[in-house]
Amino acid sequence: MNSNPITKAVACNLCTGCGACAGAFPDFIKMVDDPVNGRRPVVAANTDGRKAAEAAATLCAGIAVDYTTLPRKDAIDAIWGPVLATWEGYASDDEVRHRGSSGGAVTALALFALQSGVAGGVAHVRSRQDDPRFNEAVISRTREGLMPGAGARYAQASAAEAIGAIAASDHPVLFVGKPCDVASVRKAGIGDKLAVTIGIFCAGAPNLVATDRLLSRLGVPAKAKLTDLRYRGAGWPGLMQAKYIGDAGEVTSEGIPYAEGWGRILQSERRWRCRICTDHTGAFADISVGDPWHNPPAGNVDAGRSLIIARTATGLRLIEAALAAGVLVAVRGDRNVIAKAQPNLLASQGAVFGRRLVMRAFAMPVPQEKGLSLLPLWLRLPGREKLQSLAGTAKRIIRAKLWRPVVITGHT
Ligand SMILES: Cc1cc2nc3c(=O)[nH]c(=O)nc-3n(C[C@H](O)[C@H](O)[C@H](O)COP(=O)(O)OP(=O)(O)OC[C@H]3O[C@@H](n4cnc5c(N)ncnc54)[C@H](O)[C@@H]3O)c2cc1C
Ligand code: SF4
Ligand code: SF4
Repeated sequence: MNSNPITKAVACNLCTGCGACAGAFPDFIKMVDDPVNGRRPVVAANTDGRKAAEAAATLCAGIAVDYTTLPRKDAIDAIWGPVLATWEGYASDDEVRHRGSSGGAVTALALFALQSGVAGGVAHVRSRQDDPRFNEAVISRTREGLMPGAGARYAQASAAEAIGAIAASDHPVLFVGKPCDVASVRKAGIGDKLAVTIGIFCAGAPNLVATDRLLSRLGVPAKAKLTDLRYRGAGWPGLMQAKYIGDAGEVTSEGIPYAEGWGRILQSERRWRCRICTDHTGAFADISVGDPWHNPPAGNVDAGRSLIIARTATGLRLIEAALAAGVLVAVRGDRNVIAKAQPNLLASQGAVFGRRLVMRAFAMPVPQEKGLSLLPLWLRLPGREKLQSLAGTAKRIIRAKLWRPVVITGHT
């Protein structure tokens, strides 16, 4: 079963579900939505499939990444990847700000890149119309195409599945994805087709089981035809809410706060790969965007603000042009703001050293990551958290039998 490197990456919990392998070799590798294990690639069981998987493994950031390629100049960059400048702000377009997950900065920047000619298309994910529990990777060239993608989808999504379409595009494309999606796209050797890359901060992607649990909490009947499912947006952070077809037409479900939906329902179903992830903020992107949690929202549906990080000269240029054009309204901040805004991400980064140590003790493979020093962050953790990263991991490995190969079942 593990005769090719992509199937092996899935089997060993190294796959992030980015979709790059399937996007690059769509005839031989397909992404499948497995309710428990996530959206993962399945390789054709023949010689062509094996050859495609061997070629695809070179662009897989789930298996390996090289942090030495990043220009890091100080302790801030060593932890978070290059941080040239930071802002806190929002889209000046009220609809974009409202629909956005935080302040709509990602959608505003993407729309500005399209309208100013910086990009000929935007590769992003959005919910599938036939069943909004699932997500699809698309390339949008208009505002109408982009807007349905606004708002984070706390579910499995394979943004890098657009790699083939990006490579075939006549004009450079702006890519939006989670840090693991961006890292694979960066390895794909399609730099001349990438106008800009935007990484959204990410604490981990829950599975379909979690989505179904959320729908049940929202009161959506099990067999009802779902027409919409929102995890964030329509205010900051926004309510989790669904729409479905009931006996008398479309029904809007109860809306529950983000804190309840994420804290009590979704986060426990993040995949193991997310718990050993070392890049939650998009170190390989030109621009990263997250929540400025250190200046929290006023209630569940604040007008919205995004934390915006320029990581490269390309990213800086786009942000400064969007500010000058009035598309973004933002205030420049401190370079060390990520640590203030995301103490949870700093702690999970620290715990990864301990988790991987225990994985090695169980002879489980870990991602190959060159140029990243995790030990200093682990040493900074309080004693109880250090112990938890070791004992908790051992317990989880035994309870979930994580050494057993992951086998994917589900549908495309
Ligand atoms: C699974 C997950 C975990 C997250 N964890 C954190 C966190 O710990 N801390 C934090 O600050 N922020 C986190 N975020 C990001 C945050 O919710 C916002 O997306 C981010 O702040 C950008 O907001 P915005 O309003 O500027 O973007 P918007 O204008 O709303 O645009 C969001 C963009 O993200 C894309 N997108 C949405 N969902 C996905 C997905 N699942 N995979 C790939 N692309 C997607 C959309 O296509 C859209 O282009 C997470 C997001 C996701 C999806
Ligand atoms: S390229 Fe992405 S989807 Fe394919 S195996 Fe690697 S991490 Fe998984
Ligand atoms: S936590 Fe890391 S591996 Fe998991 S989805 Fe987010 S960026 Fe990808």
